[in-house]
This record gives sequence, structure tokens and C-alpha cells, in this order.
Amino acid sequence: MLLELKKVYKKFKISRKQYFTALNDINLTFEKGEFVSIVGPSGCGKSTLLNIIAGLDESTKGSLIIGGVSSKKFKKKNWDLYRKNNIGFIFQNFNLIEHLTALENVEIVMNLIGLGIRERRERALELLEQVGLSKHINHRPSELSGGEKQRVAIARALANDPDIILADEPTGALDSKTGKQVMDLLTSLAKDKLIIMVTHNNELADEYSSRIIGLKDGVIESDENITEAVTNRTKSTLKKKNKSMSFFEAFKLSLRNMSKKKGRIAITTLAGCIGITGFALIMGLGNGANIYIDKQLNKFANSDVLMVSKNVKESNDMGSYTTISSDEKDYKKIFEMEEVKASRPMINTNNVKINVGNQESEMVAYSLGNETSEFLKENVDGKLPLKNEILVNQAAAREILKLLNIESKDIKNAIGKEVTFLINVTKDNLQKVTVNENFVVSGVVNELDFDISSIYYNYDAFKEILNETFLTTGTLYDYLTNNSGFEIILKDASDNKLVTNEITAEKNGGAGNILSVLSGGTQKEGFMAYNIPVIMKLQFEQLIFIAQIVISIFIIVALVVSSIMTSIVLYSSIVERKTEIGIIKAVGGRDKDVLRIFESEAILMGLFSGVLGVIIAFVLKYPIESLIAKLLGFKLPGIVTIPLSQVPFTNVTFPLATIITLILFSAIISAIAGYLPSKKATKMQVIDALREE
Ligand code: ADP
Ligand code: MG
Repeated sequence: MLLELKKVYKKFKISRKQYFTALNDINLTFEKGEFVSIVGPSGCGKSTLLNIIAGLDESTKGSLIIGGVSSKKFKKKNWDLYRKNNIGFIFQNFNLIEHLTALENVEIVMNLIGLGIRERRERALELLEQVGLSKHINHRPSELSGGEKQRVAIARALANDPDIILADEPTGALDSKTGKQVMDLLTSLAKDKLIIMVTHNNELADEYSSRIIGLKDGVIESDENITEAVTNRTKSTLKKKNKSMSFFEAFKLSLRNMSKKKGRIAITTLAGCIGITGFALIMGLGNGANIYIDKQLNKFANSDVLMVSKNVKESNDMGSYTTISSDEKDYKKIFEMEEVKASRPMINTNNVKINVGNQESEMVAYSLGNETSEFLKENVDGKLPLKNEILVNQAAAREILKLLNIESKDIKNAIGKEVTFLINVTKDNLQKVTVNENFVVSGVVNELDFDISSIYYNYDAFKEILNETFLTTGTLYDYLTNNSGFEIILKDASDNKLVTNEITAEKNGGAGNILSVLSGGTQKEGFMAYNIPVIMKLQFEQLIFIAQIVISIFIIVALVVSSIMTSIVLYSSIVERKTEIGIIKAVGGRDKDVLRIFESEAILMGLFSGVLGVIIAFVLKYPIESLIAKLLGFKLPGIVTIPLSQVPFTNVTFPLATIITLILFSAIISAIAGYLPSKKATKMQVIDALREE
């Protein structure tokens, strides 16, 4: 005995308290080789019975006994396996997947039983040949007649080589001649299987069946054997595996489906790519700004000098300072740092005056060691300063020319002019000392022009005077406790994280503190170590950061909008692909398979958006750069440089990492947005999906 129905009841809930009994105590046994017709008037419960046998619907009471095993013990998984391995279903309205060809409609079933591509293709071709459709394998359902569609459906029902073929009014939508052809085909191809057919066509039942069961109002009225059943069932040679649909197959299905609604997909892709484009650009802005700053500012003349001073609480012209109040150990650390090459007393820039032609002007003074930076060597007009020489920047050169009443656009004219260097300092005993030295301008340095007058003196040449003035006794550390500050010359200052960290450290009242002081924040008492390029960099980064925040908000909005659009497209896709869901489930597809199909559609949309987004970002980079140039009033070439090989927000690098992660990110966002709709698809009732409208 192949199949048995034991005390099967089916009640449908029609209102809160009302039930309709569609099947009432059905007891039946079926053998292999039987061709059973279930006949009866419309609404008597035929389809309900067939759906229960198919495992598409559950009985309210009673059980199926399949090959000796009761369905009472069945879990969802067992039902899926039962449908996948034992059942072939033929519907009145064919239920073919519209966007697949005849061949693919047959293949999809074998996909679920784990056959390889070649085996699948071979078997599908063979089956289509058997149903006489060799010439129509690449036709879509819309290009086939009703009879042809039903023959594809028969080929599909046979694809998993089931023991049981269930057919619900298979000829209901066909004219009588075509109907007979289809019946002939079905009986010849499945003669050794159990065929259970629902029909209200008694003539058809009489002609083809070995047994006819009459159903009325959900009760078996008659059960009559007409001919002997064919019992020599040939053994199945099909090697079935319990496999779910591969993502590759799911992607293929989704691509097919998406190609049918290009317009909608294009709009969603466009909407989805806005966020990704923004994301790529924002990273490009951050990265470009960093590269720009590194290129420009770290070449700044004294990027290797760390200025160390006590934080000023009150200062006057002579520079009086409060005593150091924070933990002294922290200062000592700086001296001990590996990166520190040398230390020297710093002339507090508040107290440097230049006297030119009897006129005074304040300037920022920087000392230069003998090892001067590459930048200076390359960007100096004239020469580097020696004893009693100074180098000036453009602003200082302009200032000197102005003080000398020389009208000249050529700042190189400042070279050779004599200036007096006036330094006022307060010694340990608060005694004022003025250093008064004559210098000749040796050259002009073309650094980034911030219009701040700076002069550079040769420390080694000036050392004696400076040390005499500043370091009468003790060490620099002792000196710091009484005086303004000193400079530390660093190794590899530009990419020296340790020093940068030390500079920004809160405990040191570092550059962060300086920034807050610069922007009018409260001054903290204590130690202050800073590096001009680093401060500029931080300031620049703050600006960039604000820009990034603004863009980020925009991106988040864009991502939310695109996620919603993805969801909507997917929801409508589910409605459209209802039949597909039903069929996949009817042939034993699991929830997982259905989920995969829709998730793959979401992921594909995300991938499209990602790719498009990245492409657009690379194109938009140029107009955005010129826009920034226009807004800021000066050119910043490469200010938007999308990094290529870095995973965003990490230090992980590999070729094309940025692009790959952005595209993956887009796919992930889309997959998340698509999860709920996809989940909903799995929840869809199979019979609802397949019900003939
Ligand atoms: P048929 O013999 O025409 O195939 P069906 O098995 O489809 O009949 O339906 C049997 C009865 O059960 C009908 O009266 C139908 O209205 C009712 N029925 C079927 N499905 C449902 C359902 N999901 N909810 C409520 N009633 C249903
Ligand atoms: Mg019916």
C-alpha cells in the first residue's frame, strides 16, 4: 500500500464561531499503478482532498500514512521532503512560471532535488521530448497554447520522478480534443505511478481511470474499481539529494524576474546608489583632505619641531606665567621619547620683534637646525640662514618691504635687507633681558601663505647667545618650570603617531586644548605641546569633519529612502511571483529556498546600486572639486580622492578594498531591507498562491 488516508477531516473557519466542514471522515487507501479519478459536483471538497494528499494543506483531524509512516509524526521538513520526493502536481491553470522558458520550468524542480546542471538539462530535454515539445523548449508560457502549457506542466510533474501524480482538473481549461491528448500523454507517461485526478468530467473519468471515487459534500459516496491497476512499477533511477536551491540558482531566477521590470529596477537602483555615492564621496573628501594636508602642511618648514610650553594663564608683554600645576612626570616623558632628537630653548613668539628702518613689527620666530627639511631646501629663494642671517616667509618679506617703504611686488627684493631682532625675556629672578642682534635676510621661503609673518633663524649659529640668555643654569626641564618653553626636534615628525598622540593628549593640555583656546574655550593650566602643522591639520580636519557630518545625515536619509524603496519593490515582486512561490513550495521547496529567491533579488538590487553608486562617485568627484574650489576661493586639486584599497573605518587594505566593501555594504543594506518582505513570502500559504482565480 502506497498511501492511506485515515479519518481525515477538514474544517475551514469562515467566521469567528462558524466552521465549514469541507471533508468529513475520509478513509481511503491507494496502491501504486492506480489511476484514480475523484469526481463530484463543484464545491464538494475534491481540491481540498487533493491538497491534503499533496501535503499542500493540513487536515484538521486524521492522518496520511505514507509508505507505512504516519504523517502524525511529520514536521515541516518531512512535509517538504514528501512533496519534493513523492509528489508531482498538475494544476488546472498550469501554474507555470511566466518569466522562465519551458525548459527552465521543468528544470527548476530538479534544482530542488539536487541534480547537477548537466543532468538537469538532459532530463528536462528528455521529458519535454516525451510530451512532444522538443521544438518549444525555449518558449515562455505566454508563447504556448493551453495544451502545450499543460504538457510542460506534465513534464514538470514528472521531473522529480515521483510515486504519486496529483492532477486537479488538468483538462478544465482545455477544449475536449486537447484535453484528451493531454490525458493520453499523462496515462502513457505515468502508467506505473499512482495518479489521482480530480475532475467533474465523468466521461473523462470513465475513459481513463482504473478507479472512480465519488465525493459529495465532503463525504465519500462511491468508490469503484473499473480495471486492474498496473502494478509493475519500475524502480526509480533518479538519485535525489536533499538539497536546497543554491544561491547561484536563486540569483539566476531573480535576474530573470528583474529583467522583466527594468524600469522599476532602474529607479530603485538609482535611489539606492545615492547613499553609496555619498558614502564614496565623503570618504574621498576625508581622504583627499588628509593627503592634501600631508602634502602641504607637513612640508611646512618646522613640521619636525614640537613646541613645548607652559600653558599661559595670564601673560603680559614681558611674559609672566603661572607655575606648572599638572603632573610633572608627564613632561619628563617627552624628553625620554625615542622620537625626540634634540631640545632647545624656545623664544616665545610673543616677545619677538623685528626692527626695520626704525619701525617695529611682531613676527613668529622659528629656529632651524643644521639638518633642515627637504621642503626648505627646495622652496627657498636665496639661501638658508647662517650666522646672523634670517630666512623669512612671504608675509614677513612683504612686511619688511612695507616697513622699508619699498613698493615692489617681487618679495625677493627683501633678500639682503638688514633687520634687528629684538627678544625680550624674563629671567629666573624676573629680570628683563633684551637680546638685540642684527640680521640680514638670506632668503624667502615659499611656504603655504597664511599671511602670518614668520622668520627662521639658524639655531646652531645663534645658540651661544640663546643659551646664555635662556639657560644660565640647569636643564631644559628646569628651564621650563621658570620660563616660556622650548622646542623639541623630532625624528619623522610627519607620520609620528606617538608624538602626535602625546601632543593631543588631554593630560598634556595638548593640541586639542590649543584648539579650544583658539576657538575661545577655557584655558587649562598645564603643559602644552604642539606642532603648528598638526594644529592646522586638526583645524582643517574639524572643518572636513563638519562637512562629513552634514553629508552623512544626507546619506542616512538616502539609505533609508532606498531601503524603503527596495522593500516596496520586493513586496510588489512577491505579489507578482506568487505563482512561483507556490510552485516552488508545491514541488518541495523549503522556506529557505523561497527566502533565498527574494533575498537574492534584494541583494542583486543592492549590488546594482553599489556598482552604480561607485561609478557615479568617481564621475562626480570632478564637479565637486571645482565646487569646493569655488566655495573656498582657492583650488584644492585632489581634495576628493576616493581611497582605493582601504576598507572604510579600518586599517585593513587590499586591492580595490574600498570599492568592494562599498558594493558589499550596499548589498547588505539591501538584504536587510529585503528581509521582511522575503520572510513574508515564505509565510505565504501555498494553496492561496496557486488557487485558480
Ligand atoms: P471542489 O470540489 O470544487 O474542488 P473545494 O475543495 O475547492 O471544492 O472546496 C470545498 C468547499 O470548501 C467549498 O465549499 C469551498 O468554498 C470551501 N473552501 C475551500 N477552501 C476554503 C478556504 N480556504 N476557506 C473557507 N472555505 C473554503
Ligand atoms: Mg476544485
